Amino acid sequence: MKYKNRVQSKVSNLTDAKNQNLRKKVPCGNIPPALLARMTAEEVASDELKEMNKNLRHEAIREHQMAKTGGTQPDSLTCGKCRKKNCTSTQVQARSAGEPMTTFVDCNECGNQQKFS
Ligand SMILES: [Zn+2]
Repeated sequence: MKYKNRVQSKVSNLTDAKNQNLRKKVPCGNIPPALLARMTAEEVASDELKEMNKNLRHEAIREHQMAKTGGTQPDSLTCGKCRKKNCTSTQVQARSAGEPMTTFVDCNECGNQQKFS
């Protein structure tokens, strides 16, 4: 069943009018049918699809980075090291739900991290 799906995705790639490169390669014998059978759907995918996948991956990385720096930046927080007010606070629930929240304050200026609980 799984193999059948893979073959079907290859067939749809071969019939994709945008996938000119692959269509040109196959009749010339550049890609032997035996090799084609072993290629993954991604390898067979058209350049346009590859570009789309690449962009999606970039998008995911960007979102991940945003989540990492998405803490609050209250004006009242002062870095204990450089005394600047450019700090990001992140609250983390320690161990179990009964435990008090731990607040990490990261200084965006000098990178100093303070921990309050
Ligand atoms: Zn600092």
